[in-house]
Amino acid sequence: MYTIATLASHSALQILKGAKDEGFKTLAIALTKNVSFYKTFGFIDEVVGIDSYSLFSQALSKLSGKNMIMVPHGSFVAYLGKNEGNSDKFPYFGNQKILEIEADRKKQHEWLKSSGINMPEIFDDPQEADRPTIVKYYGARGGSGYFISGDKTDLARNLRSKNPGNDRYIIQEYILGVPVYLQYFYSVVEKRVELLGVDRRYESNVDGIGRIPSSLQSKMKISPSYTVIGNYPIVLRESLLPLVMEMGNNIVDSSRRLTGSKGLYGPFCLETVVTADQKFYAIEISTRIVAGTNLYIKGSPYSDLLFGEPMSTGRRIAREIKTAIKKNRLADILNS
Ligand code: AMP
Ligand code: AMP
Repeated sequence: MYTIATLASHSALQILKGAKDEGFKTLAIALTKNVSFYKTFGFIDEVVGIDSYSLFSQALSKLSGKNMIMVPHGSFVAYLGKNEGNSDKFPYFGNQKILEIEADRKKQHEWLKSSGINMPEIFDDPQEADRPTIVKYYGARGGSGYFISGDKTDLARNLRSKNPGNDRYIIQEYILGVPVYLQYFYSVVEKRVELLGVDRRYESNVDGIGRIPSSLQSKMKISPSYTVIGNYPIVLRESLLPLVMEMGNNIVDSSRRLTGSKGLYGPFCLETVVTADQKFYAIEISTRIVAGTNLYIKGSPYSDLLFGEPMSTGRRIAREIKTAIKKNRLADILNS
């Protein structure tokens, strides 16, 4: 009997609910202050408390007899870092090499470019920024502290005043359009890319700015920020779907060339802005479950078309693990 485990935040409820629905035992590793919250959910068999994220792998070493499979999510990238989150320490659903690329925006850019996907320009030199830009930090920080600039003079001034210091960041062309987050899943056992859902984000304060008159906006001298607060569902024009699937397939194919191994598998999300001429520009890729999938614990319109039963991304992960166990192919979907 396998236990599916994860760090208790981000999309842990969805992951563990899905695991329970597929018949697994479930375990959450939670900060002590959150233990009682996670204990209220009947589908979590065990909640282990830790006083800080730095104690994560230490807690795991005590659980080594459990036949555990860890499912990573955004908090692994944001809070655990390379040492604590390293897959060498436990059996882990996903390809660690790919997850490392997620934390490095330049490598991400090369990968997506090599998949034939449109990307906003990146300016290494602020002097070369001949159009509006957005400055973004590395790692899954949920868009906090980003800033946009109208031109290079604006950008130079902002870089001086915001003083990113030693933080790693990129300067990217700002794309005007609709942000759309494509939630995919690549199944190793079924050998297919699936679209499980699409969402948009509520970001603060940028989604609040339009609620006040423009005269007040300029008086208040607001600079936009992109801190994620939540997500909302969206369905796409059906005529865009073939292109969405083509992009997903290309990304999986090129990931194999990039890592020289199994490449990308399991859940991933292409974060795009779609322009008025219906072009998708990828601004980022997440190579694991994204929190926007929490919308679809009961399934999305797209997962319903594929499965005809409630299929969240969390449940899809557990289904993949279950099928791999049945087919004796577990090694193919654990850390490569
Ligand atoms: P949390 O556990 O909520 O602090 O989130 C862990 C990481 O995932 C942080 O970097 C968050 O910014 C990011 N995150 C959490 N929820 C979402 C969301 N709904 N959409 C995008 N990113 C998120
Ligand atoms: P990210 O952390 O890259 O997912 O970006 C967070 C948010 O910033 C996105 O959801 C978009 O709203 C916005 N954003 C990021 N990059 C761009 C871009 N190049 N053009 C327009 N908006 C962007």
